[in-house]
Parts: sequence; structure tokens; C-alpha cells
Amino acid sequence: MNYLGIDFGTSGARAIVIDEQGQIVTQTRHLWANSKNWIECWQTALWSLLEGISLELRSQIEAIAINGTSSTILLTDATGQPVDAPLLYNDARGSTVIKDLHNIAPPHHTVLSATSSLAKLLWMQQLPTFSQARYLLHQADWLAFLLHGQLGISDYHNALKLGYDVEKLEYPKWLENLQIPIKLPQVLTPGTPIREIKPEIAARFGFKRDCWVCAGTTDSIAAFLASGAKLPGEAVTSLGSTLVLKLLSRTRVEDSQYGIYSHRLGDLWLTGGASNTGGAILREFFTDQELITLSQEIDLSKASKLNYYPLLKEGDRFPINDPQLPPRLEPRPDDPKEFLHGLLASMARIEAQGYDLLQKLGADQLTSVYTAGGGAANPTWTAIRQKYLQVPVFTSENTEAAYGTALLAMQSLNQ
Ligand code: ADP
Repeated sequence: MNYLGIDFGTSGARAIVIDEQGQIVTQTRHLWANSKNWIECWQTALWSLLEGISLELRSQIEAIAINGTSSTILLTDATGQPVDAPLLYNDARGSTVIKDLHNIAPPHHTVLSATSSLAKLLWMQQLPTFSQARYLLHQADWLAFLLHGQLGISDYHNALKLGYDVEKLEYPKWLENLQIPIKLPQVLTPGTPIREIKPEIAARFGFKRDCWVCAGTTDSIAAFLASGAKLPGEAVTSLGSTLVLKLLSRTRVEDSQYGIYSHRLGDLWLTGGASNTGGAILREFFTDQELITLSQEIDLSKASKLNYYPLLKEGDRFPINDPQLPPRLEPRPDDPKEFLHGLLASMARIEAQGYDLLQKLGADQLTSVYTAGGGAANPTWTAIRQKYLQVPVFTSENTEAAYGTALLAMQSLNQ
């Protein structure tokens, strides 16, 4: 028995098939061409990912789930046909409606951002095509619809930035009062089996007739699920271009001034924040090869005395909320390995400060940290971070969002 997870991320789409033990059986990839027509591009990607899986494997897949980028939305007509171009996750045209939204949504709500799904939806109401729209769907919802054929279904990870109340599991009154004249999606628990795959899709690709399509999730939550972290106190740090922390907790932690909010994860909450420090600054000074060789030369028995706040430009939000915070990269030693040591240690200090802040705001005590992103491959950095974090630090075996989404599909049928 196999399970298929499909990730629609920022740089491309990927599909991973896992077996019952969670082992990867196959994976396929589709990079985005420079597209002007995202709808066509996503559809092409979906079919090409499915075709990239052998016919034999396809016939053994029990369940499929899809993740998309958070707050990428589109409007469709009554048949599921998009009525206009989608608005992508980073599209900030919704900034023009934020002032109105402040009068409607509770203070500090996650929808109060130019890129939130709700800001985008309100902005879309001015489009001439809006009169043809019947459904609002997220990217993952629409792609899953192409497989199962039922319109108007989403999950509570994608729906968070639409304003859905993930605690009470309902749309809040203030959102209903807006009387948006289209259908907002019915919101399911991520991974819930929605429907068996459409017979024509099963026939076209050779899937079993009773292969289930499940409610999806967002790309960053899928990447968290991939790590294997499950218990309160377990966290995942992503050491990519920026530093992103996610901590599982029994309590919900929100603080909009630091950009901290929580996603629901079953009975737990996934809380986190993102700092502008991270690997992009390392790339300013070192090649990836230098990062490897110089890191190996760092003397771990001596702590670096350098106290930097590495940023590419001024301003950070988490763990220090100060839009004017200046980058601090002085004094700079002549020895490049000393400089690198100072940078790695300073980022570890910021990481520890981030987890301290989450705990101070009420999250569960940190017990262990899994690591993803380019910096996860650096054992010297792991050792330095372990000293600052004072909990075991691991490199995640799996970090692909498609893997996390395949796990979601597997768990959906085995509950
Ligand atoms: P993103 O997807 O956010 O662009 P990745 O997860 O691909 O980032 O990670 C890329 C980052 O990893 C780069 O900014 C780079 O500086 C950092 N990186 C790559 N190799 C190393 C290394 N050996 N040690 C520390 N950082 C590294």
C-alpha cells in the first residue's frame, strides 16, 4: 500500500510516494517555467507529476493529499473553472483594503496583513470578473478538486488566513457579517478523506477506483510534518535564507507585534516566528564550499566572543521587533573562520532567544530541535546551536513538504 503527497511550493512542484513504513518509494519534480498563466501551469504540473510515477505504483496508491503555498487563492465559477488569475502567496495588492479590514476584524488578527487570503478576497471583489465567481478556493483546494471533483472544500491550515476560527472550528460572526456573496469553503481537518478519485482521472492515470483524495495543508506545515516532530516541546528550526522557528505546544500562542501565530495541529498548536537573520547573510561573505571548509576549522572548545545581529538590511520582527534594528557585524576579525564562528554563534543566540520568547509567551518548554534547510548540513553549527539551545539538536531525516503531505495522506486512512 502506498500514499502520495504532492507539494506545490514557491519554486516548483514535487510528488513523493511513500510505503506503509513511511519509506520513500519514488519522487518526481516539476520546476515552474516563467509563467504568465498560473492556472495552466499548475494543471500541467499536476498531470506531469502523476505521469512521472510508474503505472504500477499509481495502481497501488491508497490516498493522495496536496499542499499549496499559504494564502494563494483563486475564484471559480459554479463548475470549478477559474474566473480570473489566482493571487499568489506574496501578492500584496490587498494592502488597499487593510484599512477597511481593521474596522471589521479583531485587533492583531492574522488576516490583517496585505497578503492574507481575506485581504486578497476583499480586493478581488472589485474585479469585473467577480460577478461570475461562485467559490473561493486555495491553491491546494483547487488542485485537489481536479482530482476528486467536489467544490468548496478546504482545510484549517489553508483557511487560517481567511479568518476561519481554528479553535471553535467555524467562521466567526464578524466574517459572516461581511456577507461576501460567494461560497467560502467548508473547512475540514487536514488529511480528512474527502472523496474517492474521479472515475475519469482514475481511468486516465491508472489509479484504483477507491483511491481517496484527502484534505491538504500548506507548504510550511507540510515541511514541519516531514520532520517527524510530534510531541509538545519538539521544534523544527529551518536554517534557509532566513531563520524560521516552529514549536509544538499544548497552548496557543499569538503575538502579532512579533509576527507570532499558531496553527492548529490536532490537539496541539504549532507556534512560530521568522527572523530576517539566516543563511542569506552567510552567502554575502562565503561560498557554500567555504562554509564547509571554514566550519571544519572552527575550534569548538572556545566560545566566540563576537556578538553580532546579522541582517542584510535594517529591521527585524522576531525575536526583536524593531523595523529600524541595524545589522550588527562589527568588529570583524581578520581570520575568516573567526568571523564565521561569530556569525554562526550569533545566529544560534538569536535562535535561542526566539525559542525563549515563544516559551515566555506561554508555549511548552523546548525539549528538542529538528533542523531543516541548507544550514542543517553543517555539523559545526549544530554543535554550536546545541550549546545555546541546551536541548538535543537533530538534522531531520526528511524535510520535503511533499513527504509531510504523503504522511498526512497515510494517517488519514489509518486513524
Ligand atoms: P531557502 O530555501 O530558504 O532559499 P535553503 O534551505 O536552500 O534556503 O538553504 C540555503 C541557505 O543555506 C543559504 O543561504 C546558505 O547560506 C546556507 N548554507 C548552505 N550550506 C551551508 C553550510 N554548510 N553551513 C551553513 N549554512 C549553509
